[in-house]
Amino acid sequence: MKVFISVDIEGITGVTAWSETTLGNSDYSQFAEQMTKEAVAACEGAIAMGAKEIFIKDAHDSARNIDITKLPKCTKLSRGWTNCPDSMVAGLDDTFDAAIFIGYHSAAGCDGSPLAHTMNTNNNYMKVNGEKASEFIINSYIAADYGVPVVFLSGDKMLCERAKEFNPGIETVAVKEGVGGATVSINPELACEMIREGVKNGLKHISACKIDIPDKFEVEINYKEHKDARHASFYPGVTQADSHTVKYTAGTVREFATTRMFIL
Ligand SMILES: [Zn+2]
Repeated sequence: MKVFISVDIEGITGVTAWSETTLGNSDYSQFAEQMTKEAVAACEGAIAMGAKEIFIKDAHDSARNIDITKLPKCTKLSRGWTNCPDSMVAGLDDTFDAAIFIGYHSAAGCDGSPLAHTMNTNNNYMKVNGEKASEFIINSYIAADYGVPVVFLSGDKMLCERAKEFNPGIETVAVKEGVGGATVSINPELACEMIREGVKNGLKHISACKIDIPDKFEVEINYKEHKDARHASFYPGVTQADSHTVKYTAGTVREFATTRMFIL
């Protein structure tokens, strides 16, 4: 079995403020260490279920957060950005049996995390077919396009609840809950134990986690600054809806993800 793991940091146990997510800051190291531990816990769950190859995408900011020396021998780690539309799931392809998302967070425009955002912090929300889209949703569509089900998610409570509505077969572990500007987290060691067990359970029913790809993607992005909406409106197929908002329609996941890469 071959498993893909994408790891972000805002949904890692304890993480509450932007400074804690930024490489080089004094308050960053302990959370990068916990990010590594949660990635390792996911690997251990996958290995227990028979995974022979695991590909890990470090998917936050610099994409140089995970400590490679702590990872099991059957893993490969992708650090930095490959500059392609797959972004946080770059490296994924149709040879994988399942995908796992660790440390994910609520979408822009939602109050499930003090660090809620989608892809970038320059927007108030991105809607896909009328619903506010999280990175979980965007990356689930990209995975589905390769025929790879997302079987496990860890992160904040609201995202876990939304993920269950989107993909009822998925196994989730809420390591924290966002309350206004605060987070309330479970014990970090317990989080790792629950992730290990959750990944095992998810990999027991991979085919139950298949999702349908919509016939088309009606996308709306509302930027914080009007200049960004104007800039995006010049991309082929993108139209400006009002001072801060653009729209585009994509017929395929590829087109959806490629336009996203250029304008958000
Ligand atoms: Zn992130």
